[in-house]
Amino acid sequence: MSDIKAIYIHVPFCRRKCKYCSFISYQSRECDIPVYLDAIKNELSLRSEDTVINTVYFGGGTPSLLTSEQISSLMSAIKNNFNMENGSEITMETNPGTIDLTYLSKIKAAGINRLSIGVQSFNDKELSMLGRIHNVEDALNAIKDARKATFDNLNIDLIYGLPGQTVDNWKDSLLKAVEINPEHMSLYALTLEPEEPLFKEIESGVLPEISADTAAGQYELAEQLLEKHGYIHYEISNWAKPGFECHHNLVYWQGGEYLGIGVAAHSYVDNRRSANTTDLDRYVESVSHNRLPPQEVDETITPEMEIAESIILGLRLCNGIDIKDFKKRFNIDIMKRYGRQIEELLDAGLIKKDNSAIKLTQRGRLLGNEVFWRFLPDKV
Ligand code: SF4
Repeated sequence: MSDIKAIYIHVPFCRRKCKYCSFISYQSRECDIPVYLDAIKNELSLRSEDTVINTVYFGGGTPSLLTSEQISSLMSAIKNNFNMENGSEITMETNPGTIDLTYLSKIKAAGINRLSIGVQSFNDKELSMLGRIHNVEDALNAIKDARKATFDNLNIDLIYGLPGQTVDNWKDSLLKAVEINPEHMSLYALTLEPEEPLFKEIESGVLPEISADTAAGQYELAEQLLEKHGYIHYEISNWAKPGFECHHNLVYWQGGEYLGIGVAAHSYVDNRRSANTTDLDRYVESVSHNRLPPQEVDETITPEMEIAESIILGLRLCNGIDIKDFKKRFNIDIMKRYGRQIEELLDAGLIKKDNSAIKLTQRGRLLGNEVFWRFLPDKV
């Protein structure tokens, strides 16, 4: 039997596509939500297991396009097919342009106990550049309403490294976030793919180039400022007040098993990594006929890859890799197996090591990929 602890449900609908979005989400297809939710329920029953889960995450897309009744029925479907532990963390991503107090009160009653609000910036010009459907006032109202609806575990997402965004602009957004005092913050550097509108606007000179140096300065500022305000930096891109680390994401980072349900959802179960099709119609067609969805990825993780992933994910966490735990799990002395890589990275100032753990340095957190690739098996 598997050891699944976490379930992710993907909701691939958005009111409008943001200009930087690389997630699997469809605009102008909200009318397909009911049929999609029936398919999700079918997939849940096809993958039903007698296992105890303790986190559920509704991500997207924009899960807050679902009605509270739809959320409620999905919660029932999860509980009918898995054993959900009392006190499980149930997170839902929300877009500030789609929620109000009535809605938030209802989804709280439906069982959502952790809200992730996609604020992205507290600057209206930046929000408009990103193509978001909301402005700063909407975001502030959403946060106020979330508190009124008694949510006591709030995450705010912010993006830095935007075209033309100065360190001072970023500082203003961070200070606003700190004033609001959410329990958790996720800060992401903007990354763009060539097909995205924002990429094209930069390429054609409509918007300035992204400056890697400015982004690095913004990240360092966030580290200092959030620490000063009582946030613990526990993962490269994530900060939390003590006790409010995201349990769901910790399952990913600690190499735990998780099940992804819905279009494009990824799973890691029994040493197999898989991903459902990204095609909404194929997904619905297959699952509504009681067949598991076509897989975009379906690979067995070799022992070498499992070790490499555990190192990479471990280094993403600010507590780093516990040397004794690593030895216990893999029966490998990390210094013997990876001595050369570790020495090089210590010399380059990208990692640090004491008797118990190996961690990224501040410079290493900025240049994580420079570190991670060195631990991949040769063939990858
Ligand atoms: S709201 Fe999120 S998922 Fe939807 S288009 Fe914008 S970035 Fe993409």
